Amino acid sequence: MKCPTCNGNCVLPAESVLDELFGIYMACGSCPPDPLFNKNTPFKEHIDKNSGRCPNCKKRHIDYVIGNVLSLLKEKGFFPGDASLREVGTPLIAVGFQIPYPPRLGEDSLVLVMDSVTGELAADIVRTVPEIKGVIKRKGSQSQSIGILDTGSTPHTYEMLAGCDMRCDIVASSFGELCIYKNQSKIHIEFNNTKIAKIEELYFKGELDNSSVVDGFCGPGTLGLLAALGGAKKVIFNDAWLPAVRNTILNINANSGILGLKMELETPDYDTLIGDEPVLLAKAGGTSEILVYHGDIKKLKSAVDGCDICIIDTFPSVNPAVFIHHCREIAKKVVVI
Ligand SMILES: [Zn+2]
Ligand SMILES: [Zn+2]
Repeated sequence: MKCPTCNGNCVLPAESVLDELFGIYMACGSCPPDPLFNKNTPFKEHIDKNSGRCPNCKKRHIDYVIGNVLSLLKEKGFFPGDASLREVGTPLIAVGFQIPYPPRLGEDSLVLVMDSVTGELAADIVRTVPEIKGVIKRKGSQSQSIGILDTGSTPHTYEMLAGCDMRCDIVASSFGELCIYKNQSKIHIEFNNTKIAKIEELYFKGELDNSSVVDGFCGPGTLGLLAALGGAKKVIFNDAWLPAVRNTILNINANSGILGLKMELETPDYDTLIGDEPVLLAKAGGTSEILVYHGDIKKLKSAVDGCDICIIDTFPSVNPAVFIHHCREIAKKVVVI
């Protein structure tokens, strides 16, 4: 698979990612001990691209990587000499999952979200710090969701300044795992695991088995793909935000081995950013039947009806109540995540 953003090797089939997962961020027997840097006090070390690197596995502790970025920013006069590691930004590991220890990072394994950076510096960071695969500039406050709140709203996105912003999160449920890719400058950064519990609840009640499910605000496709994994025979994805729909389609492809799916239709030449009337952008078949729409949930009824469950997962600042009656028109049961 080719990464649709950088045309590189950022996107692997989910089975390959899951196979490698166990050791991906683990120290080897030759790795030097943790550096024990204080992240909140002025950082005085000078870190270059070789500092702290293991001679055997070539990985290094995340604090060396961030320290390398900070040393570069200080060298260029962009950050003051007394800046701390914490001020550099928010590091997102390229393959995200819960790890109980600080990660040891290999090449191209970190996407860095920064509040303060220029395009030129971002390019310098990606060029000189081998572990950094992409630099994103945050716009607005940390709590503001990325994407669109409703079809009438202006999109809020971060800016990808250098490298590639494609990364994935491992979605672990009691009935299996998936690997969900996202363009992190255009898709909401998610830390919430309770959503998975709601799908597990449907699974344990037997409600997913042979069901038809609408994932009404699908984002990168997490909940709908989980429903397919949990036994839904038909899943209809919808989102009004084109980058989300594109990521859903990518995730159907990336997880097709696990889900027993084969893509039957894809529409690459389509570039309306915010959807209105539903447009079918992809279709897959196999173990489940999958349809992917770009459109406004309020109009989805013209393409979809008679489903069993409609899942609605809006952004935290949006009241899902305004969408519920539209969802009732297309599905018997509405589940607000
Ligand atoms: Zn890429
Ligand atoms: Zn090592």
